Amino acid sequence: MNNTINSSLVWLRRDLRLYDHKALFHALKNSNAVYCCFIFDIKILDKLSIKNDRRIDFIWHALKEIKADLNKLGSDLIVELGDPVILIPSLIEKYKCNALFLNKDYEKYAIDRDNRISDELQKKNIETYKYKDQVIFEEREILTQNNSPYTVFTPYKNTHLKKIFNEGITQFDCESYKVNLAKFKNKSLQSLKEIGFEKSNISSIKIPLGTQGGLALIEDFKTRINNYNYSRNFPGIKGVSYLSVHNRFGTVSIRHLAKIALEHNSEGSSIWLNELIWRDFYFQILSNFPHIQDGETFKSKYNNLKFENDEKKFSAWVNGKTGFPIVDAGMRQLNSTGFMHNRLRMIIACFLVKDLLIDWRWGEKYFAEHLIDFDFSANNGGWQWAASTGCDAQPYFRIFNPLLQSEKFDPEGKFIKRYVPELELLNKKQIHQPSVFFNESPNNFPVKMGLDYPFPIVSHAEQKLKIMALFKNTV
Ligand SMILES: Cc1cc2nc3c(=O)[nH]c(=O)nc-3n(C[C@H](O)[C@H](O)[C@H](O)COP(=O)(O)OP(=O)(O)OC[C@H]3O[C@@H](n4cnc5c(N)ncnc54)[C@H](O)[C@@H]3O)c2cc1C
Repeated sequence: MNNTINSSLVWLRRDLRLYDHKALFHALKNSNAVYCCFIFDIKILDKLSIKNDRRIDFIWHALKEIKADLNKLGSDLIVELGDPVILIPSLIEKYKCNALFLNKDYEKYAIDRDNRISDELQKKNIETYKYKDQVIFEEREILTQNNSPYTVFTPYKNTHLKKIFNEGITQFDCESYKVNLAKFKNKSLQSLKEIGFEKSNISSIKIPLGTQGGLALIEDFKTRINNYNYSRNFPGIKGVSYLSVHNRFGTVSIRHLAKIALEHNSEGSSIWLNELIWRDFYFQILSNFPHIQDGETFKSKYNNLKFENDEKKFSAWVNGKTGFPIVDAGMRQLNSTGFMHNRLRMIIACFLVKDLLIDWRWGEKYFAEHLIDFDFSANNGGWQWAASTGCDAQPYFRIFNPLLQSEKFDPEGKFIKRYVPELELLNKKQIHQPSVFFNESPNNFPVKMGLDYPFPIVSHAEQKLKIMALFKNTV
């Protein structure tokens, strides 16, 4: 960029913060007056059937925070509801902007939408500046020696780490250029009701909101990051960072997180950095193998596996009533909070596919509707990993045993009891397989199996044989 731009529009999307924000930084640095906007994209909202969707509520709180912060600086946030293809050019015209700044989104719908907008603006000689912001390395930045994208995580991670160490992490200091924010006052933020939604339970379940919430989570996690290598596997203890929703909506910066991981330089922090790299890995899979967005398996030979797809079993899984306590606890956590611990996502996804013989796409869709941190790339990656259809997936004959997983990762049954209170009176042996202990002595057992809590809906041993046959026969 050579010339100073008179006035610019920054379009916030999944980067809902004002610090270390690449598009905002470049706009502020190169313009005399910067307007910030957010559009509730009607094409995305129309697809959301749950009216008290926690994600819309999370976004709304983040916008409220940004608006208040901009107001303190004499500026404001423009928030509109509608089709960005129409609204962005009209805002450009209304505020007499000479350029549009945005951070890239890697999903097909967003890429097409953004291209349509930049093409339209180009006709009027208005430049669109697009930046990499939501990942550390994107698209084709990390390639194999043959110049092709990686499809296996470990070598990808090694190259990624080398690049981080060689190049370092650059953050973007928006603060220094904030005088270039446009001084104006806009209308107040629409209520959730005005955009067709309702309040969710995010405040009552105490999800830390906005950038302030994200930064508080970071500070808290810094005290635990060095133990992450151990504590990350146990859903019953506070081991992970709980930052995924902030990564999803960009209320914190991924570069900031990577820097923290590097600064701690411990076993825990390097394992945590690996998780951030998994995130990049799945984003580059999305960019380089876009067919996964069409409901296809990464490995085409697994596209038409003949799953049983029993609706009743699916409904038991959805409602946390499978009779497998660890599975039920995780699903109830998801339904009541929108979050699920990673260990449980793995167990529960594997259970749906390999114990219930249900198409992984059903589970993927359910998670997409209910996870507050839902991100297509990580969700699709996680499901295809569990279903053994993905790029670097577990082989189909590796099947999690829900009982062993439960005994290993929730040994006292602490997590199970939090979400399945009907099992509260069981001891640490009984809690993982109540039906077995009930059958030994039904009259003395503290839980009435079949009434208070269901018997297991399948036999793991039997289902294991079936899923192995299903894979073998399809391939
Ligand atoms: C079936 C399945 C579905 C999943 N769906 C999603 C999803 O929709 N959105 C999502 O953000 N993560 C998803 N994950 C990955 C992971 O479970 C969550 O990112 C993690 O549980 C979030 O908790 P945290 O923020 O405390 O993570 P931490 O353990 O503290 O990890 C730090 C960050 O790294 C990223 N991360 C961690 N693990 C992964 C991973 N395996 N893949 C990609 N990024 C990762 C997240 O941004 C996370 O916030 C899924 C995993 C599985 C197995």
